[in-house]
Amino acid sequence: MFWQKDIETISRRALEALQLKRLKQTVRLACKNIPFYQENFSALNIKPRDIIALKDIQKLPFTAREDLRANYPFGMLAVDTEQVVRLHTSSGTTGKPKAIFFSKKDISQAAELIARCLVMTGTTKGDVLQNMMTYGLFTGALVMHYGAEKVGVLVIPAGPGNTQRQIALMQDFKSTTLHITPSYALYLASVMGNEGIDPKRDLSLRRAYLGSEPYSEETRNKIEKFFGIDVYNSYGLSEMNGPGVAFECMEKNGMHLWEDNFIMEIIDPETGENLPEGEKGELVLTTLCREAMPILRYRTRDIVMIIPGRCACGRTHRRISRIIGRSDDMIIIRGVNIFPQQIERVLMGIKAVAQNYQIVLEAYDRITVRVEISKDLFDGRVEHLVNLRNEITEKLRSEILVRPTVELLEPGTLPVTEGKATRVIDKRTL
Ligand code: ADP
Ligand code: ZN
Repeated sequence: MFWQKDIETISRRALEALQLKRLKQTVRLACKNIPFYQENFSALNIKPRDIIALKDIQKLPFTAREDLRANYPFGMLAVDTEQVVRLHTSSGTTGKPKAIFFSKKDISQAAELIARCLVMTGTTKGDVLQNMMTYGLFTGALVMHYGAEKVGVLVIPAGPGNTQRQIALMQDFKSTTLHITPSYALYLASVMGNEGIDPKRDLSLRRAYLGSEPYSEETRNKIEKFFGIDVYNSYGLSEMNGPGVAFECMEKNGMHLWEDNFIMEIIDPETGENLPEGEKGELVLTTLCREAMPILRYRTRDIVMIIPGRCACGRTHRRISRIIGRSDDMIIIRGVNIFPQQIERVLMGIKAVAQNYQIVLEAYDRITVRVEISKDLFDGRVEHLVNLRNEITEKLRSEILVRPTVELLEPGTLPVTEGKATRVIDKRTL
């Protein structure tokens, strides 16, 4: 099923020609109207007309998060403020936020990309989407909302939290599709489990879109199994519209990144050099259709790889892997690089582990992993707990090559967050 079959299955050649045409337009627009780019272009001694082939993108300056912050609030705008109809800010936790502007056309284009994603995964008119992301300054909920309405789906703007009401909404309106963070999906599962609700028997759910935080294949499996649904990975960031940048199709083998709207590059985060397809590196994105706020070579900090080869679904837009980590989330313990997701993958593969966990980095490079264990397995027998702790410690050690201290906790001990979960507490910098 396709929303825009022509463009979703466009030949690589035609796609690249379209990218080049749009790249030239974007560069001209950015250079003409945004002083930040004007200055950077003249510092590097390049002109928009130097872009002759797609690979010339490598001549352009990068845009970093700090650049968006430094130009807050209006510095990155390419149009008059009267043309802007929506403001979002990014959920960044430190310093000034980043302001993201949309023109009418930008809103409609972002919704168009979501429509492709929904139809690609079987959501269509007649479906009921319970949108459990945060409404407000974040892009997550609203961009999805507009896209789903475009398809003709009934959208329930539930927002996150208030779990009892969420369950009632699912029951009363027979929600078929959820848009939710992985951490909240896991929490929802634990609440339903405690209350004896079996989604397979009691609800009408068919699929869920999980995004906005990293999660592992094991977490996907756990959620699919509990709810009896298909889980599709959804990737986006506010700087690039929000959700709908890359999304899994029914093959569930990597996320198609909509290359008619974005040029992707994978770079070595240290050197900034482009890496060959199939190698892990930092994802860099250039907008191709954005009017109010074009961004060139944005350093996402997300580590991914391009999955080589064609997808069986027929779409020609290349796929990226699950987000392996953020180059700035990387934990370094005794010289070993660790991504929190490696820890999550191990934990979620162990049956006795419940949903919530926390990674605490202590002084002297010690790492403590605090894990809630599942209620049914919490029988209070010390021997069982010791064995479980040893098993978790051993499995983590062989994955991250450092022996962590593992603390087992009763279910419900760790705080539950509504937005993005805080998994890593770094006491070394406190
Ligand atoms: P911030 O960068 O301030 O957290 P956003 O709310 O725009 O702001 O979050 C975007 C980031 O969220 C991405 O750069 C990525 O790190 C993370 N993210 C979004 N979707 C996914 C996903 N499906 N898997 C892993 N990480 C994701
Ligand atoms: Zn596909």
